[in-house]
Amino acid sequence: MRIARFSIDGNVAFGAVEGEGTVESGGLVLDIIRGIPYTDFELSGTKVPLSKVRLLPPVLPNKVVGIGRNYAEHARELGNEVPEVPVAFFKPTTSVIGPGDAIEYPSFSSELHHEAELAVVIGRMCREVPRERVKDVIFGYTCANDVTARDVQKREVQWARAKGFDTSCPLGPWVETDLDPSDLAVQATVNGEQRQLGRTSDMIRSIEDLVVHISEAMTLLPGDVILTGTPAGVGPLNVGDEVAVTIEGIGTLTNRVIKRG
Ligand code: MG
Repeated sequence: MRIARFSIDGNVAFGAVEGEGTVESGGLVLDIIRGIPYTDFELSGTKVPLSKVRLLPPVLPNKVVGIGRNYAEHARELGNEVPEVPVAFFKPTTSVIGPGDAIEYPSFSSELHHEAELAVVIGRMCREVPRERVKDVIFGYTCANDVTARDVQKREVQWARAKGFDTSCPLGPWVETDLDPSDLAVQATVNGEQRQLGRTSDMIRSIEDLVVHISEAMTLLPGDVILTGTPAGVGPLNVGDEVAVTIEGIGTLTNRVIKRG
């Protein structure tokens, strides 16, 4: 099931996405959900065309945990070794934006990069998750863009500003709950031109590894997001660009870059 979060007439709701098509092409309908998707919920049967609503980030995470250098080719393209333990970092909740929202080019950077990534959405509160239980704590998957101020990342020891500025975490367009994430194409295009294309099967650490590793340290809450790293091909974003992240079996997350006003 594809679950979107949206606003209509000033109200915010979750809905199950039905029909064939894309956000841009139309043809999709939302069946409004009663209750909260992570727990028991039912479809109301009240349907609205997706074209009539504003899509919001599909989850409101308590935290977004990013994983760096999880694809060998990407680590190499930036001159880095594959780390012995996963590199974990946070993106704050204020960095999260939804499909169609603007990425604001920060004033303190002159080298903004896209990073197309599979995002894991946690479905239940958990800590110290054993490997065999990881599937039970995952709610679903969505597309993410781990937008990074690469110049800032290179000159500052911690990545908080480089990867945590406002609007640096587009998520969406919805959460797919029925998906085998082990071998999916992950693609980024800029203005329609392909920049990144990889497969989740090339991750150095699997999703199971990452959930075990992160939950060893901290409690994960429903709606929390884990970014699983980006394949090779990262590159610059400029003001006016339209960047799209497409993941096989999920959909396409599109955002435009604007100058911060
Ligand atoms: Mg990344």
